Order: sequence, then structure tokens, then C-alpha cells
Amino acid sequence: MACVLTPTGRGAVAVVRVWGPGALDAADAAFRPASGQGLAATPPRRPRFGRLGAGLGDEVVAVVLDGEPGGVEIQCHGGSAAIAMVVEALQGEGARIVEPEAILAASTPSPIVASAWEDLAQAPTLRTAEILLEQAQGALDREIADLIGAGDRDLASRLETLIDRARVGLRLVGGWRVVIAGRPNVGKSRLLNAMAGYARAIVSPTPGTTRDAVTIRTAFDGWPVELVDTAGVREAEDLVERSGVERALRERARADLTLHVLDRSGPLDDRAEPTGPTLIVASKADLPAAWEPAEVLGTAPFVVVSAESGTGLDDLGAAIARTLVPAPPVPGAAVPFRAEQLAALTAARAALESGDRRAAEQTLRAMLPTSFPPGGGRWPVRAG
Ligand code: GDP
Repeated sequence: MACVLTPTGRGAVAVVRVWGPGALDAADAAFRPASGQGLAATPPRRPRFGRLGAGLGDEVVAVVLDGEPGGVEIQCHGGSAAIAMVVEALQGEGARIVEPEAILAASTPSPIVASAWEDLAQAPTLRTAEILLEQAQGALDREIADLIGAGDRDLASRLETLIDRARVGLRLVGGWRVVIAGRPNVGKSRLLNAMAGYARAIVSPTPGTTRDAVTIRTAFDGWPVELVDTAGVREAEDLVERSGVERALRERARADLTLHVLDRSGPLDDRAEPTGPTLIVASKADLPAAWEPAEVLGTAPFVVVSAESGTGLDDLGAAIARTLVPAPPVPGAAVPFRAEQLAALTAARAALESGDRRAAEQTLRAMLPTSFPPGGGRWPVRAG
């Protein structure tokens, strides 16, 4: 089997991996060393320079790999023509071209570990990458294997913990959605820009200028967030604005958290009831206050900010992170990160609740490789 490991698109260098039965022979037949013997006679981990591909071929560096799944790594030029030439030459020697995910599956018998390596490549922040790396190193597999032998009460509470952590786990790649809402002119667009650090939304003193949702990707405390600025939620006269308002209501319905912006420098005329998790942002703190949040907001959580001076923006970021992830998983914790894992854990909990311990164990066992740890050996087998 062979696959292109580097992402699609142009780059300086591309990496093509060949592995599985016959891999070394196929690579050896396709590779023309600049000097000396072929790849089959080259010891592992020693880079060899040569050419590969029809005609003159591309200049490549080939390395014979040891360990699992072994094979040969070929580094060629990153242009699509160079990659195609190398791939075709390997195909001509009998290699089957597969998607990069196949190499993860070949590197480990654990479906969870393979998925973790796959998601790790997409992790948008260091914090999410660390959690996925721990799952790639077997944290979730170990916990599930451990659960199978646990007592009923212990099993129930640990399942509960895992299911709860999936709320974070399932967001590690896609992140959370935070919607900025409030009446026109309270400072939503300025806030979005201030939090993003650059001007993206249109800021204007005319109410209702932000007609569409404007989205930026950022992170708070290492949690990836999509920040959405919506058009002011109000009775709109013209049609364009009205479609913006409808969109705002839809965005709010899909949000994990709504930042409800109230202008502290003007009259408090917004009595919109919060729907879903909401954090109140009292804006324009650099201007004289027309009302005091602590006095009028009661127990509702709020942060006072100024997009103009930057006051309170750090507090707001911290409050967003705390609200989205009140209990971050401790280092090394088992964290389910895919919907199918959550579904299996939920099914195991249902089986246990209905008194069917055997069914619960079977569901958990089905999440693991057929032998755990594989062959009684070192766990897990690391990809790459
Ligand atoms: P939106 O309609 O809620 O998106 O409001 P904008 O972000 O467009 O802001 C409306 C007006 O308030 C603009 O003139 C902004 O410059 C002004 N504004 C926004 N935030 C602040 C702030 O923190 N301090 C001051 N002094 N003015 C602000």
C-alpha cells in the first residue's frame, strides 16, 4: 500500500509512504539510487538520494523504515506533477494507493487510537492537541479496559464521568460557537473586532449596519471558539435588515453560549429574555456609566468591558472559557472525542441501568481491539 502523507496542495516537499507486504520490493524496483546499491540492501533509517518516476523522474530521498508498519518513506518535490510521478511509479510496481487514514489503521489495532491520531492532525490549539495526544497514547482505551473489570457502582460512576467529558471531547476539533447578540449600536461589532484583534466586522454609528453574521475563529484558554456577530435583534423595517435579524435568532438557537451585550453608557432598554446559556457583557466601560450592572442585573453573570480601551477583555475571555468548560479534564484523563464513542458509552450505561451487566461489558469490549493490550505487548503501538 502507498499513500501521500502530506496534505493536498503545493508545498516544497511531499512525503509518500509505502508499507505492507511487498512494500520494500515495490519501492526498490521504482527507486534509482544516485550511487551504490538499491533500497533492499540499505539499512533502515539511512536516507538515500536518487530518482524515482518515468523518464528522468523526480529527485527524491528514500528511507527504509523499521518498526510497525515499516515500509519506505519517500520525500519528493511537493508540486502535484512530482507527486503524481512518484505515485504512478509505485503503482506500476504493484503498490495500491490508499488514503492517509489507512496508515493509522495499519499502525494500531485500536480504532480509538487510530481516530485520535486522525483528529490530532486537525486539533486547532495546543490544549486540544494535548488531550487528543493522550487518547492517541491509549488513555481512553486503558480506561475502557479497566471499566470492564470494575464493580457495578464504580462502573456506573466512571461511565458517567466519561459521558460527561465527551461534552468537551466532541468539541476538540470543531470548537464551540459563541454568539454576540444585543440591540443595534451597543458595540457588538467592535467587541468582535477587539477580541479578534483585527477589524473584520463593519463598525458604524448607524444602527443595524451588521446585516449578516460575521464569524471569526479564535480560542479562549486554549478552547477553540467560533465567535459570531449577528445583526441587532430588533424590529427591522427594511428587508435586508429583517433577514439579518432572522439570521440572528437562528444563530442564537445554535449557540453554545450567547454574549448578550448591553450598552452601559446608555439607557438600559433591552429586556430580551436570555435563551440558553448567556453571559451579559456591559459594554463601553470607557464612557460614563448610565447604570451599574451589579445593581440591575441581580445574580446574572456579567463582565464589564470596553472594546475601545481593552478593559475587561481578558476577564471576558476567561469567563467564556469557564462557562464553556467548567471542569477541564485533568492531564492524562480519558476523554471520548467521537460521536460513536459517546453513543457506545451511552448504550453501555443504559444496559447497566436496566440490570444487564453483560450487555454493558460487551458494548465496552466492542470499543477495544480484539486483544487488549495487543499480544500482551507494549501499549499502544505508536503511529509514525
Ligand atoms: P453594534 O451595532 O452593536 O455592532 O455596534 P458597533 O460595534 O457598530 O458600535 C456602535 C457604536 O458604538 C460605534 O460608533 C462604535 O465606535 C461605538 N463603540 C463600540 N464599542 C465602544 C466602546 O467600547 N467604547 C466607546 N467609547 N465606543 C464604542
